[in-house]
Amino acid sequence: MSKNDWDVVIVGGSFAGLAAAHFISGGDVLILERQSRLGKTQRSTCCTSVDWIERLGCSNSVLQRLDYLTIHSSRGAGVQVRLPEPFCTIDYKVFCETLAGNMENAEIKTGTRVVEIKEGGIVKTNQGMCTGKAVIDASGWPGVGNRAAWKNRGWRKRPAFGLEIETDYAGDTNSIQIFYGKRYTSHGYGWIFPTGKDMVRIGIGGQFSGSPLKVLNGFLSEMGVSRNGAKPHGGFLPIITLGESVRNQAFVVGDACNQVIPGSGEGIRAAFEHAEICAKIVRMIVEGRIPLDTGLAEYSRAVMDSKPFYDNMRFIQDMAHFCPDFARSHLINSLLKVDEARAEAVFKRYLQGDIKSSKSVIVKSIIKSLLR
Ligand SMILES: Cc1cc2nc3c(=O)[nH]c(=O)nc-3n(C[C@H](O)[C@H](O)[C@H](O)COP(=O)(O)OP(=O)(O)OC[C@H]3O[C@@H](n4cnc5c(N)ncnc54)[C@H](O)[C@@H]3O)c2cc1C
Repeated sequence: MSKNDWDVVIVGGSFAGLAAAHFISGGDVLILERQSRLGKTQRSTCCTSVDWIERLGCSNSVLQRLDYLTIHSSRGAGVQVRLPEPFCTIDYKVFCETLAGNMENAEIKTGTRVVEIKEGGIVKTNQGMCTGKAVIDASGWPGVGNRAAWKNRGWRKRPAFGLEIETDYAGDTNSIQIFYGKRYTSHGYGWIFPTGKDMVRIGIGGQFSGSPLKVLNGFLSEMGVSRNGAKPHGGFLPIITLGESVRNQAFVVGDACNQVIPGSGEGIRAAFEHAEICAKIVRMIVEGRIPLDTGLAEYSRAVMDSKPFYDNMRFIQDMAHFCPDFARSHLINSLLKVDEARAEAVFKRYLQGDIKSSKSVIVKSIIKSLLR
């Protein structure tokens, strides 16, 4: 590497890493990405909030705007609710290239794999070493040097896995569709996300004991969709307890910190939100306004603030996981009886990370819906 000392070194040039660099917007920033080019390997369905995509200046990556969500259970018709804010599917490559292209302060080195992040801002790569006053690990799951990631093999600690294909579709291409129930998947859920021009990303996610490809094939045949030679893509979804937000004096952001929201599997908006928080702190470190340790402690506190929300979403997800099929269907169908304004209000609270009531209140409100 020609230059070795940087204000900030970011490991990973995807949602979390690029958003962090965007918001730091000062100092000299180095982004290290192991792929040979940004946006090369899409693992995700890439559906997120329109508002966030516009804030990041990447509206050109939007494939389709989505205002409705339809939830299907094994029995009965699907329940459609209006989303309190628009979502959209995006072209991953265009998104990464646009966000990176708008940066003036960042140098991006692709084809560079980080081997280790050491205390003192030292980053070891397959092409040499560099240092940063602040280092951000945005390398996805499990994250660089996260040795604990593979140790806990209990199913609650195991990340989920998601797999999908992109293909043409003759059904509803106006709303996001989520499918719960044994009819669709053994555990977890199935999904259809429209991407414009009668194309969709259709897939499955969950903690499967067998082959995810088998589960995907089963779901496609239930939906009457043929693979048409489309190659599946996917990866791990760390829908587990929030991970370490600071590791070896580096800020850990996005999937590397398990910031995917349980229940919904939304990791992109969560990565953007935490990247923005992290970037504000890192900027103060670079400007010499606070020492590194103070910044790391502040970031840890901010991540811990969202823990009650994550714990509750995980609790709701576990209940959905264990719920007998008939009860889950009943619960989803009972949503039909909830007026639109109430459903929208619940979704709004979810989007604000404001589902922080005690677990007993959650259980009571679920039982109330079941009895309705
Ligand atoms: C099938 C599937 C569907 C999904 N659908 C959605 C969805 O619709 N909406 C949503 O919000 N979330 C979705 N998610 C989750 C979402 O994709 C992730 O939460 C999101 O990608 C996290 O972003 P990230 O930047 O933290 O990590 P990643 O996107 O995983 O990026 C990590 C980056 O770091 C690089 N890297 C890794 N190791 C190194 C290394 N050692 N050195 C250098 N670079 C490295 C990688 O190449 C990669 O570019 C989905 C996930 C899956 C698997």
